[in-house]
Amino acid sequence: MTRRVGLLGNPLKRRHSQVMHDAAFDAAGIDARYVLLELEPDAVEAAVAEARGEGWLGLGVTAPYKQVVASLVDEVEPDALTIGAVNNVVRTNGGRLIGFNTDAPGFRAGVELAMGRSLEDARVVVMGAGGAAHAVVYACLDAGARSVVVGNRTVARAASLVQRFADVGQGSLTALAVDDPTLADALAGADLAVNATTVGMIDPGATIAIDRLGPDATVFDLVYVPAETPLVAAARARGLRAANGSEMLIAQAAIAFERWTGVGGMADVMRQAVAPLLADPTVRA
Ligand code: NAP
Repeated sequence: MTRRVGLLGNPLKRRHSQVMHDAAFDAAGIDARYVLLELEPDAVEAAVAEARGEGWLGLGVTAPYKQVVASLVDEVEPDALTIGAVNNVVRTNGGRLIGFNTDAPGFRAGVELAMGRSLEDARVVVMGAGGAAHAVVYACLDAGARSVVVGNRTVARAASLVQRFADVGQGSLTALAVDDPTLADALAGADLAVNATTVGMIDPGATIAIDRLGPDATVFDLVYVPAETPLVAAARARGLRAANGSEMLIAQAAIAFERWTGVGGMADVMRQAVAPLLADPTVRA
């Protein structure tokens, strides 16, 4: 029996995850396929119930279902609960479903590679307060960041994110409006500046004033389509360390794959498989 992992979302415009996971199933000699399930909201509950069957290894979950799926599984792991989003589900023996989050550890792996150091004691500025920003801020605080400043176009969303994570880690956590003058000071002292908005992918432009950053800062853009966003280009032009979100994408996929199959060490296989898609200028957000 060919087993399956299904990706729940709507719309499902990109095939990056499917390409990575199918390559890893092949490389590991596992008879399974990653299938795209672009479902209407009223079909999600039945899809989750079906994943309790033996033919399923688990589920991937993307927008807009990361919250609703959390309410449909049997258990949500503590970090996914704190972040408020389940982006993967593993089926355990007997059909029990456990929801977990790989965006936070995937971000940590990707960003520490980009920085060439740990997030511990880092001073971080994060732009954005959506689902991805929640995972980023949690990962930074959980890893021991000294300070995290969150800027967002809608400041109320940044404030509610800050409230949610008030008890995570020892570092300070502050919400600022994007036009708050103290944001420039935070950027000047930052070891890391992260774009966790859709800007650069959907809307043009960049969320971070690159010229405010110090010479040792790293810029990390979660966007990976296009491969070189305006933000990454500007940071590189200034000679700063900069990376897009591709290593985070690969790291989070490898973590999920290991949970579904017990097979680790698939990041290299996945990186090689997804490289043509990441480099393809015709792939659009
Ligand atoms: P989301 O929940 O929809 O949040 C969108 C965020 O972008 C909000 O903070 C929103 O601000 C902000 N934003 C949107 N348009 C803006 C504009 N024109 N100017 C300023 N801010 C704007 O999205 P998400 O799920 O967090 O995803 C964010 C990005 O991360 C996406 O590009 C996604 O592809 C990427 N991502 C990458 C990975 C990876 O593995 N590399 C993983 C997850 C996500 P408001 O609150 O003001 O609307």
